[in-house]
Formats: sequence, structure tokens, C-alpha cells
Amino acid sequence: MAYGARGQGRMDNRFQNSKEQFAIAQRYIATGVNSPVRSYVSVGGTPRFIRSGSGARVTDVDGSTYLDYVGSYGALILGHAHPDIVACVQKTAETGLSFGAPTEFETALAQRICKALPSVERLRLVSSGTEACMSALRLARGVTGRAKIVKFSGCYHGHADMLLAKAGSGAATQGIASSAGVPAALVQDTLTVPYNSITALQQVFSQHDIAAVIVEPIIGNCSLILPLPDYLFELRKMCTQHGALLIFDEVMTGFRGGWGGVQTLEQISPDLTTLGKVIGGGLPLAAFGGKKKIMDLLAPTGEVYQAGTMSGNPIAAACGAKTLDILADSSVYQHLDDLTTMLVAGIRALAHDHSIPLQAQAKGGMFGIFFADEPLQSYEQAMQCDTSIFKRFFWEMLQRGVYLAPSPFEAGFVSVTHTKVDIEMTLAAVDASLATLRI
Ligand code: PLP
Repeated sequence: MAYGARGQGRMDNRFQNSKEQFAIAQRYIATGVNSPVRSYVSVGGTPRFIRSGSGARVTDVDGSTYLDYVGSYGALILGHAHPDIVACVQKTAETGLSFGAPTEFETALAQRICKALPSVERLRLVSSGTEACMSALRLARGVTGRAKIVKFSGCYHGHADMLLAKAGSGAATQGIASSAGVPAALVQDTLTVPYNSITALQQVFSQHDIAAVIVEPIIGNCSLILPLPDYLFELRKMCTQHGALLIFDEVMTGFRGGWGGVQTLEQISPDLTTLGKVIGGGLPLAAFGGKKKIMDLLAPTGEVYQAGTMSGNPIAAACGAKTLDILADSSVYQHLDDLTTMLVAGIRALAHDHSIPLQAQAKGGMFGIFFADEPLQSYEQAMQCDTSIFKRFFWEMLQRGVYLAPSPFEAGFVSVTHTKVDIEMTLAAVDASLATLRI
């Protein structure tokens, strides 16, 4: 095919709608998407192909513009195409795209993160949250010389083999792979326990030598589940007592619920922390870090191997540092907090008016909605609820110009560019959408 013909093909694609785009994508991309949730598998129908984003809004290839509460699953705390970040991409790109050598941008970002999170004295930059969690767990196993790790049902830490384990029926259950292609041997040392249960933790610690406990300190991958009072303190205490490392996975909550992370808000010092999303300013970047004496065990000085060609990519690192500089303005988190508080209070009141059982919670710039009678405390509770009502709600909201994540289990995110008027518009859409659900 001549180049011109290929170019023509590309031009034609621009004028196709989401349905046609999805059909083309399915011919070349496995299942048509590069991450499962994007396929709308939980809500049915055709995924919207996004052409552009600006501030709090995205526009799809069909020409519809939506108020966006996905924000690239939490990464875009400054909104889409923030002018300072776009300028930072352009300026940094002009000096080179990638070197595979240290740059001053990496140090600038690392310095900002270490200053914000006292538990992080040293860190390593990587390219995804998956890599960060996988590397932190390897390091924890290397440090303790133990194999077993504990995770909580409903928490997501990326798709490394050892983390694709699901809970069985007991309080603390051992390694059942939750994905084909994960040999039983790779999850046999992964213990899964229910979140918010101190008893389950006590049980697991009494029966096993644990290398590390990895937790989303606020779960953002099962709608939004907050820790019960003192739960995280107990977790810290038990890990210390039993010589296990505590890993806070703050890939989602880092610089999202407030400056720093949940650890800053709750004043708990984990041994290791993983970060991602916000710290990359919308580009692929993540990190894991902790006390110097632990982090120094990484190769080349230490014996735990970890590496990455694209780790600390200069453009991503520069944009991450720029993002943190903007977020350091204390009014930012107040704004996010005000908006999510207004949003969830409004949603709760409307659900009450429509007699629809619905829970809505928020923390800083993130929120969760779940159709349930009681606030969620665990994944096990979420599993007992009827999630099908969300599907109808999702489409009603989309029709009214509000873009929620296409799954009942995803959290929602606001950016600094969302406004009170946006929240009012959203609440009007919620009101009209809930009215249709009663029928
Ligand atoms: N940890 C948490 C808490 C996450 O929410 C995610 C992704 O959503 C990950 C880890 C994995 O990050 P990534 O998708 O960048 O691999």
C-alpha cells in the first residue's frame, strides 16, 4: 500500500464514530482495548473513543463532550491538557526524549516526593504502578528473607503474577490464581484477607511468617472504602510486632486525598510506599520508596535486582515535578475537598429523595458511589450487592453529559479544573438519572 493510501486511511478514521472505531480497533488490538475496564465490559455497549480533553471535559470521536470524573483513573489531578504541563512536555522534549542515563529531572521529582512523605527517604522511579508494587514486594522479600505476602480482597496493586490471587472462603486464604496463566506456585505465598478485619489479620500473623503486608490505605478499587478508625494503626502495630514490612500502596491516593498521601493525613509511617498516577503528571511514571536502609538493598549496591529502560523518563519526571509544584499550593486540596463533599452530600440527598439505596463517600479529590443499603467496609460486602443497577445509572449519566468510570468498582476523581457549577450540573444529572431507575 502506498504511503498516501495509508495516510488516507488514517484521515478516514477521524470521521468514524466510536462504534466504527471500536470495530477497527478490534481488528488490531487484542479485544479492542489496552486495559480491560476500557472495553465497557461491566456496563455493556460501546466504549467511547476519546479524541481530546481540556480541563474537566473530554470530547469523543462522535463529537459529544462530557464532564469527566475518570481523569485517566486519577492521574489528571490538574485536569486535561493543563497549559503548564503541556508547556513542560514541549520544553523538555526539545532537549531529548530519553537517555537511559540519570537526569536532573529525576532528582527534582524524587526530592519533592521525599520532602512530602517523611517515610520515603530514598525512592526509585519506574513506569507503572504495577512495576512499583511488584518491585516493593520483591524488596520486602529480599529484606526479610521471607516469602509470604498479605494482601486484602478488593485492593488492586497491578497485574504482577503474585498479586493475581483471589480470596477463597476462609478468613485468610492462600493463593488461588485469579487469572489463567498464573501458575499456582506463583500465588501460593500470597495470602488474601478481608479489609477492615483485625481478627483476620491476627489470624494470619499467628499462622505465618510474613514478609510484607501490602494495602491500599483507602481502597479506591472497590468503589471507595475507608479504613475503620484505628485499623491502619493496628496494621502498623502488628507488622512491627511480627517483623513484616508494611507497604502502603498510594498509587491512587498519593497526592490525591491530600498533600502527601494517606500516611500524611493519618500520620502512619509505612516501611515502603508505592506511588503512581498523580506523580507522573499524566505521563507514565510511578515510584516505590522507603527508609534508606531498606532502599539501599537494591542493586547495584544491594542484592535485590530491579531495573528499567524507561524508568524516570525525563519528560514524565519533569511533568511530575511541575505537577507537585502546582499542588503544593494549599488551596488546591481545599478546593478538591469542597467539591467532593458537595458532590457526595448532594448525591446522598437525591438518593434519599428517590428512595434508592445508595452510598456515597469522598476523601479529598476522590469519591465513590455504590448502590447499597450500608456503607461498604469490605469487598465481601460489595460482592453481596446488586451491581447491575450501576449499569443503568452509568448510561443515564453519560446521556446527560457526565462521564463516570464504566464499572461499579472504580472510584471517581475530580480535578482542580472542576467547578461548583460542574457539581451542580452533575447533581441535576444524578437527579434525572435516579428518577429513571425507580421505574
Ligand atoms: N495500585 C493501585 C492502588 C492502583 O489503583 C493501580 C492502578 O489503578 C495500580 C497499583 C497499578 O498501576 P498501573 O495501572 O499504573 O500499573
